[in-house]
Amino acid sequence: MRRFRQALHREVLAWYTISSRLQRYFPMSETTTPRQRTTSGQGRTFDSVLDTIGNTPCIRINRLAPEHVEMYVKAEFFNPAASVKDRLAVNIIESAERAGTLQPGQTVVEATSGNTGIGLAMVCAAKGYPLVVTMAESFSIERRKLMRFLGARVVLTPKAEKGVGMYRKAEELAKANGWFLASQFETDANATIHEFTTAREIIADFPAGSLDYWVTGYGTGGTVSGVGRVLRKESPDTRIILTEPANAALLASGHVQARTDSGSPAESHPAFEPHPIQGWTPDFIPLVLQEAIDGNYYDELIPVSGADGMAWSKQLAQREGIFTGVSGGSTFAVAMQIAEKADPGARILCMLPDTGERYLSSPLFDGIAEVMSDDEVALSRSTPGYQMADS
Ligand code: PMP
Repeated sequence: MRRFRQALHREVLAWYTISSRLQRYFPMSETTTPRQRTTSGQGRTFDSVLDTIGNTPCIRINRLAPEHVEMYVKAEFFNPAASVKDRLAVNIIESAERAGTLQPGQTVVEATSGNTGIGLAMVCAAKGYPLVVTMAESFSIERRKLMRFLGARVVLTPKAEKGVGMYRKAEELAKANGWFLASQFETDANATIHEFTTAREIIADFPAGSLDYWVTGYGTGGTVSGVGRVLRKESPDTRIILTEPANAALLASGHVQARTDSGSPAESHPAFEPHPIQGWTPDFIPLVLQEAIDGNYYDELIPVSGADGMAWSKQLAQREGIFTGVSGGSTFAVAMQIAEKADPGARILCMLPDTGERYLSSPLFDGIAEVMSDDEVALSRSTPGYQMADS
């Protein structure tokens, strides 16, 4: 019965695809002349910014996608602090509130490359907890500034000590001061929020097994472990594609991570090298990610270079109007490889974890000038008025 339903769904989908292709080649007037857009509000008000987390849209890729497939991106920059980590941040705090392990007014501390810190800063501001973040000096300046703007204190750690260094610093500070350590790399609150929100949204937006591929990277592994739990049960025909940096291919190396009793890393992973995909692949395999490895939650593991990721981030911005960071571009680079070899009519969903605005001072914006190009100067001079004195 289930197979029959899936086959029927595919038939309907194929018809839909053919008719939308026909519309593209032989457009009818109603599709070429856009109707006046209107909106009607959400029909509700929100009690807190925290209630606006999640329910991010899956958006069709129209210009970059190969003709024979349907590609979508799940745009996590629609979250209130503009990344996927808002989900985890609110769940870490609220799980601890439920368990009674976080007391009113107690300081929260966490090691984070940025997005978790920004999410936690938002949540802590909204709920009245002080926040201290430890962060390696190598991450982009705007991340530090954003956290400080949201009221957090940011303690930098030396680049040479890598992810393990900032992690140990957070542990040290928690122990010395009796603070609540958020433990994003080990806590079950991480994958669980993706099981209860991200995965539910994907199942609702691609019902009855109509998603052929889901593509994601990993940082803590919360996204892949949480969504993997649900897709494996409720959408078993969806192929899960995991990606990691080509020059820090920890999973592909097969080297098993050494851990302490608490599950935290006991050593820096030997396959790690610094890579430009911020938020991805720390220098250890997190406990949260281990669930996806042990549970066979992914069907393929595809490496991607940071350069490819940046190029695709730029393409998404300039050809689709979709503004995401380096990890989003990298995930999309892999989704494009999948798309090229996928069967006609395949539906592919690619995670975009954050906004490109988080990378203004990073190599993603290399070559994006502040001053006018020759072409822009020529444009300025092409009409008589309002020219810059020094151009
Ligand atoms: N991309 C970016 C920019 C991130 O900050 C993160 C989270 N560290 C991820 C991807 C990966 O998400 P997860 O931790 O759920 O694996």
